[in-house]
Amino acid sequence: MAISTEQIDSWIAGRIKEDEITKYTRDGKDFIREEEIEQKLESNQNPDSKKVKDILDKSLSVENLTPDEAAVLIHVTDPQLLELMKETALKVKKKVYDNRIVTFAPLYMGNYCVNNCAYCGFKSENADVKRKVLSKQEIIKEIEVLAGKIGHKRLVVVYGEHPRNDIDYIISSIKTIYDVKVKTKHGFGSIRRVNVNAPAFSINDLRKLREVGLGTYQVFQETYHHKTYACIHPEQTIKGNYRWRLYCMHRAFEAGIDDVGIGALFGFYDWKFEVMGLLYHALELEKRFGIGPHTISFPRLEPALNTSLNGFSRYRVSDKDFMKIILAVRLAIPFTGMIITARESAQIRREAISMGVTQTDASTKIGIGGYSENSGRQDKQKQQFILGDTRSLDEVIREFARMGCITSFCTAGYRCGRTGKRIMDLLRSGEEGKFCKFNAVLTFKEWLDDFASKETRIAAVPVLEKEIKEIKETLPEVFPRFKEYYARIENGERDIYI
Ligand code: SF4
Repeated sequence: MAISTEQIDSWIAGRIKEDEITKYTRDGKDFIREEEIEQKLESNQNPDSKKVKDILDKSLSVENLTPDEAAVLIHVTDPQLLELMKETALKVKKKVYDNRIVTFAPLYMGNYCVNNCAYCGFKSENADVKRKVLSKQEIIKEIEVLAGKIGHKRLVVVYGEHPRNDIDYIISSIKTIYDVKVKTKHGFGSIRRVNVNAPAFSINDLRKLREVGLGTYQVFQETYHHKTYACIHPEQTIKGNYRWRLYCMHRAFEAGIDDVGIGALFGFYDWKFEVMGLLYHALELEKRFGIGPHTISFPRLEPALNTSLNGFSRYRVSDKDFMKIILAVRLAIPFTGMIITARESAQIRREAISMGVTQTDASTKIGIGGYSENSGRQDKQKQQFILGDTRSLDEVIREFARMGCITSFCTAGYRCGRTGKRIMDLLRSGEEGKFCKFNAVLTFKEWLDDFASKETRIAAVPVLEKEIKEIKETLPEVFPRFKEYYARIENGERDIYI
């Protein structure tokens, strides 16, 4: 159905609720205090090794770092200290998440957007992009491939900002996704956790989103630097309002959503500043709501159709600095999940995972309707950007298994109320590890039986054996229950967890 320009304008005009920004600001200022950040970056240059080692000891005790401490780590250039940072980051990750990796697939639901972000192929003024929103039938087709052929259990569904994919569309599309069940080799496949990457919503819309049972609500600030933000997001657009976006997680918490994901798109401004911005955001959420971000994403800017990134090339993040970003975030905010996506090459993803990243996508298609079309080629006219790693989930999981990591498809947490503060407290106490280990093995076994190639099943044997041995030794009280559940999975039962 056609939507007139007047209808779109009036929809845009009703989106931003000023009182849902001002209620959070202090003395008219937001929490990204740029002068303070710049001063901390300035005063913590050339750190001595004793100071760095003391900070790493604090990270090892799994505590958030202060902005000054993070600024120290950001400035480390000494190769030996960098090596020590890598070792510590991996130890921190192991303490909190053990050797588990979570996989997901992004699902782009449409590419209509009223905003006009300079760097995005979906921007409203890009006439060359083919616009589309998935219908209910098309969503079902996508899920049949994702859950029935590839074996994904988690999605990040991505929406632009447009009346065609407003909150009602989002709610009904999530319901559609949860309803699809597909017969597999030994059981059935379904999507069990839908994370949402969407615009900044009002509290009212966010309440609706909570009710449908979303996993994590993700909104990336793109850049925390105010002036740069204004350069790439035209003022008259919704996204042009820096603070509407900055405070959307505050509104989410107020609406009862306590799993939130923040992120920055690196490459618009100095990466050191952006890392500090992420830390300030995490600390602000923890201070106000008692919970930090469930996940942090740190994608690097990629070229897209009809976009020009001239003027930003000086902030392009090298591979070396990208690794420093990962280390700084892992060490400064130890409880957060860290996401690296298929924007990056296989080699970079491998290194990132060995330094503390906990989640990644695979078998990724970012064209609208890309999974069921399965053309095997990337289409600039339908994609927001171009991918760096197009390997299948099977290949990626095989590689993880060879690295000694177990891929967890566990989605029990939010379905058992282990979210927000509860999950953070469980992670802190080490209790969550028990549930996670148990559920990771069960869900991994389920996926191996239904979807893995012979090669991957063989590669997974040592990991599975090691995990089962550890459950037996460290969780003797749950081992009999674990064995019973494991046998039920082998017999084709699905989606069982503690
Ligand atoms: S980045 Fe998001 S908000 Fe901006 S034009 Fe692209 S889809 Fe729209």
